[in-house]
Amino acid sequence: MEKNLKIVLWVSWAILFPAALCAAYYFWPPMIAGNELAIATFLLLMCIVSIFPIIVNETPVFFAQGVSISVFLLFGPLVEMILMQISLTVLLIKLRVGLREIHRYPTNSLMFLIVSVAGAAVYYAIGGTHGQTEFTLEFLTKVIIYAFTICLTNHFFLQHVIRGFFYKNKEKFFSKDFLWEIFTTLMFLPVGIMLYILYEDLGLEALFYVGIPFVGISFILLLLSNSQRLNSYLQQASEIGHQLTERLEVKEVMDVYIDKLTSMINADYAYIIDVVNDYELKVIRKLENGQIVTGTKETISVHHGISGLVYAKKKSVLYKKREHWAKLEKTLLPETIESLIGVPIVRNQKVVGIVVLASNKKRSYDYSQLMIVDLLTAYLGVAIDNARSYEETKKQSERCALTGLFNYRYMEKLLESEYFKLGSTQLNHLSLILLDIDHFKKVNDTYGHQAGNEILIALADRLVRFIGERGTVARYGGEEFVILLPNVDKMACFAFAEGIRKTIANRPFMIDQDIQTFGKRHSISITASIGYATAPYDAEGPLDLIRHADRAMYIGAKQAGRNRVAEYVK
Ligand code: GH3
Ligand code: MG
Ligand code: MG
Repeated sequence: MEKNLKIVLWVSWAILFPAALCAAYYFWPPMIAGNELAIATFLLLMCIVSIFPIIVNETPVFFAQGVSISVFLLFGPLVEMILMQISLTVLLIKLRVGLREIHRYPTNSLMFLIVSVAGAAVYYAIGGTHGQTEFTLEFLTKVIIYAFTICLTNHFFLQHVIRGFFYKNKEKFFSKDFLWEIFTTLMFLPVGIMLYILYEDLGLEALFYVGIPFVGISFILLLLSNSQRLNSYLQQASEIGHQLTERLEVKEVMDVYIDKLTSMINADYAYIIDVVNDYELKVIRKLENGQIVTGTKETISVHHGISGLVYAKKKSVLYKKREHWAKLEKTLLPETIESLIGVPIVRNQKVVGIVVLASNKKRSYDYSQLMIVDLLTAYLGVAIDNARSYEETKKQSERCALTGLFNYRYMEKLLESEYFKLGSTQLNHLSLILLDIDHFKKVNDTYGHQAGNEILIALADRLVRFIGERGTVARYGGEEFVILLPNVDKMACFAFAEGIRKTIANRPFMIDQDIQTFGKRHSISITASIGYATAPYDAEGPLDLIRHADRAMYIGAKQAGRNRVAEYVK
């Protein structure tokens, strides 16, 4: 909430609160005299039920309103207002709304004040009276109208004024909370009326007969709402679990995990931390202020911070406020964090990572949430494992083990997919360079096969550096390399090919392994013969491009004396 808004709020509260009480006192004189003990007992009952609020959509719903109906009918709106305000304060204290959110007190106070006034105004407008002993249908109708006025104004203020205006969190009027409001009103309206009638008949004794079951129902509703919340968590968790294991890439898995987890459980910060070499912790994915970012390079020791603690304990931790964990050494967590959950990612009885969820609010998390994070983190562990082995297999099938370059299989697939983009706005030309090292057999024969390998590795590296982002380099076979260059025409391709030829011929390769001068670095000069072809002119299909570049290489470069570049001629 903005600062200015808070000032407006406090000022309006300071003016409206006493004004409303005075006006109520003046217009609707209360019926207090002689009823002091009864009012105090009603207050006690309302305060007790305020201790069992249920949380719907992060908003507490409490049942003091059930009792307040009879308070209103018996003692008038002023007493109802005051008792409601006191039980509201009990509720907020029970919810441990702290200094940081102190503005929730005037916000709620004003809201309940307006709700009480609206209820009373409507009740009097339809001719409602107090002290009625005859229980007629007309009276009942008025009470029902009063109760629903309270319910609807309450919902309207909560949904549109508090959430919509103060917290910019727009929701439909007919939401899940609305159903809860209606449901609780329907549940407690008869109780309120019963309490009223019984009190008129029996006096204070009525509070005993109705109060105890009333508190009981409040408590049961609390349990019901908790178990409903847990159910919905479990349902979401199982859905997220499926989605996680469907993802094929590690990055994707982590993004889906953070995204889904934080949409389910409120968090200002979320971190996925990797355990590197058993002694360091490194943040590999994090969410800060609603943004997912890849981790920093920074690492901390496994002995430090929350993640260090989770690593050592191999167990989840839950902290409700900062004082409880602030003593931990060297945490990297932001200053504002109060409550947090830390969960280990365990594979084969080893902690391989840690997940931390944190909130700027105190007591944001309880054990049911910890359990859900635990469950999802188990899914995350499996999903990351799967994705890693998928990535490894994919890499093995697409890459050459010696040079790390793409292999011919990958290149042929890429060539095909690129070729079919030709003619679209994305792709005008597609050039392909084929390169074959000259007399490489001799290099092997002279310096050994291992030296030959080293040259292939170094050459691969030189080619990748030379081409950069402009194309794709692949090892096509033994000492042959292919380079695919999208949007490079014939002229430009020739320049590329010449550049490549020179980077190979003009600078010798430094080799460690050499069968002749064992243990000494050796420099070996090599050259390459290069052929190229460019689509659409030189090819009628993707594989033509390779065939024709090969032909150009063989006839135009090798046969013409090697160490040269040749273009394909029909
Ligand atoms: P040119 O192409 O100039 O006609 O002569 P060349 O000697 O390069 O031609 P050829 O195709 O006859 O021989 C290619 C050689 O490349 C044969 C093989 O020893 C070597 N070679 C192929 N793959 C590898 C490899 O992975 N490592 C090493 N060290 N050598 C390889
Ligand atoms: Mg060859
Ligand atoms: Mg060769």
